[in-house]
Amino acid sequence: MQNHPIRGLHHVTALAGSAQGNLDFYAGVLGLRLVKKTVNFDAPEVYHLYYGDETGSAGSIMTFFPFGTQIRRGRRGVGQSAVTSFSVPSASMEYWLRRLKQFQVPLQAPRQRMDELVLYFEDPDGLSLELVANDLDTRPGYANGFIPAEHAIRGFWGVELWETGYEQTEAILAGRLDYAFVAESGSRRRYAPQGSASPGQFVDLDYSVNRDFGRGGAGTVHHIAFDTPSDEAQLLVREKVLAAGLHVTPVRDRQYFHSIYFREPGGVLFEVATTPPGFAFDEPVAMLGSALKLPPWEEAHRAQIEAQLPPIHFNPEAYGSPA
Ligand code: ZN
Repeated sequence: MQNHPIRGLHHVTALAGSAQGNLDFYAGVLGLRLVKKTVNFDAPEVYHLYYGDETGSAGSIMTFFPFGTQIRRGRRGVGQSAVTSFSVPSASMEYWLRRLKQFQVPLQAPRQRMDELVLYFEDPDGLSLELVANDLDTRPGYANGFIPAEHAIRGFWGVELWETGYEQTEAILAGRLDYAFVAESGSRRRYAPQGSASPGQFVDLDYSVNRDFGRGGAGTVHHIAFDTPSDEAQLLVREKVLAAGLHVTPVRDRQYFHSIYFREPGGVLFEVATTPPGFAFDEPVAMLGSALKLPPWEEAHRAQIEAQLPPIHFNPEAYGSPA
């Protein structure tokens, strides 16, 4: 695995409405850590909020651009990463069912899929999420003080891409990103890095018929990012994707990782992001997420940016564990 150019998922980025509602849901109801409070580097009047485990490990990072009232709801559909799944221990399913009901989260009854028990629910913008109960995950999750550590979300399980077919996307995943087919059930095909199949790595392609194409907006995923260990590995991946005839961006400095982007043939925007330097790049681990961090080129505009952003505040006391 160490030599693998792609080690699994790095992060998933979605669009949201209210920043406060987003913070309350992900840090409060789900108990993830806000690991970075920054701005959209391409639109600094909008936050970029990152949630994850204690350090913001690759494979645990869910990020949002909360556009407030400036965005309409999107529609989940073909050409999108349509469902984002988090991993929890098998013994925690009852806990989470109770907790999501306590906070009146829209959800479906847990169901069996492949070898896993799946609980589908939606965030305040209607973003499709799942908890996948399993006993494969050895990651600790984030000990936040109000969700018992044994029930904490461990990070991602995987993502589900909705496609019209699987062949072309499989050619990129398997041919360029060193993923391999690992399982299938009906119109769902699962992929994981070659020689590995762990929570935080899975990409499922679902090519069920009779679905509409998606439309971007609040409650939809903007892109998914794969994790690569170094700048050198990233450049090798970039060459391989270019050789498949896809347009790939130059390397972009995202402060906490370096990124390239390309759209896979099924329409989903893929990013390949480096593990280093990580979220402790500009504040210590103990302080992650506590201050508004700006990239150096925006520091001169800090006063103006802070005046435009809605104030947000997280109150952990409001999210104590149910009895
Ligand atoms: Zn990204």
